[in-house]
Amino acid sequence: MGMKVLSVASEAAGLVKTGGLADVAGALPAALAAQGVEVTTFIPGYPAVLAKLGKAKAIHKWDALLGEKARLLAGKLGETKLLVLDAPGLFAREGGPYSDASGRDWDDNWRRFAAFARAAADIAGGAVKGRSFDLVHAHDWQAGLVPAYLKLAPLADGHIVPSVITIHNMAFQGYYSADIFPKLGLPPEAWTVDGVESYGGVGFLKAGMQLADAITTVSPTYAGEIRSVEFGMGLEGLVLARSNRVHGILNGIDTAEWNPASDPHLAANYTAGKLAARTKNKRAIEQEFGLDRDDGPLFIVVSRLTWQKGMDVLETVLDHLVGIGGRLALLGSGDAEIEGAFLSAAARHPGRIGVKLGYDEGLSHRLQGGGDAILIPSRFEPCGLTQLYGLAYGCVPVVSRTGGLADTVIDANPAALAAEVATGIQMNAVSHGALAMAVSRAVDLYAQGPAWKRLQKNGMAADFSWGASGAAYAALYRQLLEEQG
Ligand code: ADP
Repeated sequence: MGMKVLSVASEAAGLVKTGGLADVAGALPAALAAQGVEVTTFIPGYPAVLAKLGKAKAIHKWDALLGEKARLLAGKLGETKLLVLDAPGLFAREGGPYSDASGRDWDDNWRRFAAFARAAADIAGGAVKGRSFDLVHAHDWQAGLVPAYLKLAPLADGHIVPSVITIHNMAFQGYYSADIFPKLGLPPEAWTVDGVESYGGVGFLKAGMQLADAITTVSPTYAGEIRSVEFGMGLEGLVLARSNRVHGILNGIDTAEWNPASDPHLAANYTAGKLAARTKNKRAIEQEFGLDRDDGPLFIVVSRLTWQKGMDVLETVLDHLVGIGGRLALLGSGDAEIEGAFLSAAARHPGRIGVKLGYDEGLSHRLQGGGDAILIPSRFEPCGLTQLYGLAYGCVPVVSRTGGLADTVIDANPAALAAEVATGIQMNAVSHGALAMAVSRAVDLYAQGPAWKRLQKNGMAADFSWGASGAAYAALYRQLLEEQG
């Protein structure tokens, strides 16, 4: 019989999404099915999730899950088996998964996701009749307490299954004051640095990293980077101490969702052999963003507008970008100050810079399908998906050399150009000078027609499907089951 895995994630594409975690949680079940692993996704019952789930069967009840009444609903999203935690006191609210409509984090996030983790540990421990799992795979800080509950507060009649935690972004740790500890329902012994304690508070991600049987992160380079003070965000010591348990497994992309030959969002579908068809998509972007028609490259951005993504630096390079003949269509949302800076750049350069603030899945596809180059000057990037979509769509990535960006883009240096393997442009530092230079290199290469086309074709030929990464996760699961005996 195949292995059964409970994947515990606070978002999943198709249900609720704020970033790359959703893409990965959404794609894992199919990637692992191909490896003979059956994944069930466990997700909080936000209103959007319950609406998509429709009529679902309640298969378990909690009278007091951290004090809350809750039900477990079973359903499906396409082929994927879903379990949904319906706990209205925690999740029935308007806004995002983690914050209210104005973007302010919910005050009780610790309780919302502690309850979610407790429920996950119960399910994995065998609390629900007819549903058993061999292993639990927790994602990010929102599921960080799952290994802690499993190991330190198992069900009386339950069993302990191996656990894996995946770090999608070390910057988000779910760090809370010590006052919440007594309310978590963990035994007093959990309050140590070998348990959930972290710098005098409770660290959700830290707890997961401490207690899971394996830690994975989403690219080999990031797995190395988080051993350093610069990227470890205070947890580098723990990463080093458990380094024989740390694995870097690159994210894949969902090629059913992201395929330029069949993408329903595009005005024109195309393949690497029919790149000319992209022009129609470019014209559509120009129209949608109020940009001039022009022979120079059309840069795009699809991003959270934050410091991590280097968007504050990009904003300082826009006059240069326009000055050398570039145009920019930007889709994103995030820090108010950065949003304002892009809006004023658009006002300064009508016809050259167009900005749409907000979140728009369809538009994110259209931009990749018609843009010439996607700018991703991240200060750190655990994996990054938008460069992978860019590669698949012939929208050449211009990226910083960090994390997954370093692992997936081959810089158009003279050697790589001569060997015809280059797929994009990399910069070493995220500074005004380095980014301005990278943009200049892109404009120059674009002007050399065939060389640019080569970059596009190389990128489109690269394989970033889930095959290899799905196999790597499956191998890790098997290893942990063998260790358990
Ligand atoms: P992160 O998870 O750090 O935000 P990733 O590159 O891993 O970065 O994933 C971002 C995902 O969110 C991609 O699927 C990207 O297309 C999508 N995305 C980001 N911003 C927007 C937006 N404003 N509108 C639509 N999709 C967006």
